[in-house]
Amino acid sequence: MADFKTHITTSSAVGVGYGLAGHFLLDAPIPSCILSAGLCGLAGILPDLDSDTGVPIRETMAFASAVVPMLMIDRFQTMGWPHETIVMVGGVMYLVIRFGVANLVKRYTVHRGMWHSLPAAAIFGLLAFLICSCQDMTLRLFKTGAVVLGFLIHLGLDELWAVDLKRLRFKKSFGTAFKLWGNKRWANFSVYAKLGLLTLLAFGDPIMMDRFGGHAHDVPHLASDMFGGGSPDTAAPTAEPPAPEAGLETTGKPFDPWDAIPTIQR
Ligand SMILES: [Zn+2]
Repeated sequence: MADFKTHITTSSAVGVGYGLAGHFLLDAPIPSCILSAGLCGLAGILPDLDSDTGVPIRETMAFASAVVPMLMIDRFQTMGWPHETIVMVGGVMYLVIRFGVANLVKRYTVHRGMWHSLPAAAIFGLLAFLICSCQDMTLRLFKTGAVVLGFLIHLGLDELWAVDLKRLRFKKSFGTAFKLWGNKRWANFSVYAKLGLLTLLAFGDPIMMDRFGGHAHDVPHLASDMFGGGSPDTAAPTAEPPAPEAGLETTGKPFDPWDAIPTIQR
């Protein structure tokens, strides 16, 4: 399998490309692009947190404990917390991640277990989505994509290193990175339970944050806002973008209960 240096170098290089593409293709702000490049680089060592020893777990946990609270500041401000409370909660989060989470990871993971898997990539993507709680859904998904990309690059490198090119054969470790499930039933259940829970939280989070009233209304908050899906919040503007204020009477449409929901919420 690829070593730490190969993983961090490759994922960082791809992260730079991802950040540049975000700036030039999606017109994303430069700070978001730099942050996403860094997240992609860091995500490239995340799967090896299960290795128990060495640089990945020590460095990643130290970095995560400092950065995660900062990434959540936007959420705390949206919730109306005073400055002192945010500093206090940030300090507690630092200690919990640096010592609590790091110990749990050491204790309950097996190298090349389910941390090296596709559902684990989705789990870290959902965690990134929940942590990077900015108002703009496009930027939020952009940062989430950076973490998933970095994670997948790690898995891809591990599979690549499992091919013995000299003897033209697959090593024993081939297929243990890009997998959907492993041999241990409990580990499979645990991973898919976490995936289900985080999926529910991720779907509920933009709606919950919207309840706090801190979101700007000119940026998409839900994934369906971006793709013009059937969200009750966006149904009318998506259908008739030039005249979003047009009422039911003027459009002549039959009464649709979904159209009435945003009015009730406000
Ligand atoms: Zn690995």
